[in-house]
Amino acid sequence: MNPLIRKLVLDPASKLFAPVYSGMGTIIYLDQIIPESRMSKIASNRSIEITPDFFEDILQFFIRRNYQAISLDELHAALNGDLKLDRKFVCYTFDDGYLSNYTTARQIFAKYEIPFAVNVCTSFIDGTGLLWWYCLEDLLFNCKSVRFQMDGTERELSCADTSSRERAFDTLTDIIRGLGMDRRDKFIRDLCDAHGIDPEERARRECLRWEHVREMANDPLITIGAHTVNHHNFTCLSDEEILREAAESKRIITEKTNQPVEHFAYPFGNRNAVGTREGAAAAKAGFKTMTTTRKANIFPGHRKHLEALPRIMLSGNYATLSRLERYRTGAIPAKTYGFRRTVTYE
Ligand SMILES: [Zn+2]
Repeated sequence: MNPLIRKLVLDPASKLFAPVYSGMGTIIYLDQIIPESRMSKIASNRSIEITPDFFEDILQFFIRRNYQAISLDELHAALNGDLKLDRKFVCYTFDDGYLSNYTTARQIFAKYEIPFAVNVCTSFIDGTGLLWWYCLEDLLFNCKSVRFQMDGTERELSCADTSSRERAFDTLTDIIRGLGMDRRDKFIRDLCDAHGIDPEERARRECLRWEHVREMANDPLITIGAHTVNHHNFTCLSDEEILREAAESKRIITEKTNQPVEHFAYPFGNRNAVGTREGAAAAKAGFKTMTTTRKANIFPGHRKHLEALPRIMLSGNYATLSRLERYRTGAIPAKTYGFRRTVTYE
């Protein structure tokens, strides 16, 4: 094969994907925007953090490509055919409800007059939630080893150096994500208590307060969405528990902001955390759109799958514009999802 043609065909960044896999546009999913000096020391936690400079690079990346920035309401209207878009769209969403959405992201979006959504987990905003991925980081840097009971056996994980801390973090994450409602909370609280960590301190320090959420809800550029009460892995919950988590967060945010809450983001929206059962249970709470963390673009076929809209997330560990371009064109999603275009729960 001619080397040039070969490069064009094989290069995953190839624009050849764009006509077929870039779709109507892209929903971007972000969490924390924080300076490099404050980024986490654990790789998994860095994956939800990007710097303000890179965040602004993302906004300019889509502006240069003539994408129209739209809100979740406009996305819903565009998919339903009630809003005609004459170019591709980008829709920005943030999950959990971090304070940096208020202190940093809001100013940058305001500068460009770009709308965005913040999907808040209500117990984090109350300051009582377990922001356990950051608690674990504090715990692992506070001790030489972590001891805990699991199914009647005593376990001990070393956290004396960087690689053992990363391993311990992954082991504890797997355990926590596999526990149902009460067991999860008891496990995290016991672990924190035993190692001198306040399990709620990180939520109080890192997350928005209700006065911030109310102020943002009144900003015409900002949509406040729901992200459950306690941020559980839905696969560990019953249908009733899932519905309660979704419906309660919607009710609480509506009451606190005095505004309708019509959009929802699944806590842990990947293949291991939400599928058809979990989606159907949460959908009963009644939302216009529900977003996952499957990484793919939006197509007209999503009109029939408003409860499973994929989003592109850029990890702080691999934050480059060339990677973003491979998502935007659909090159990475095409390969990840077997060259399907309308990605839902697969
Ligand atoms: Zn989340």
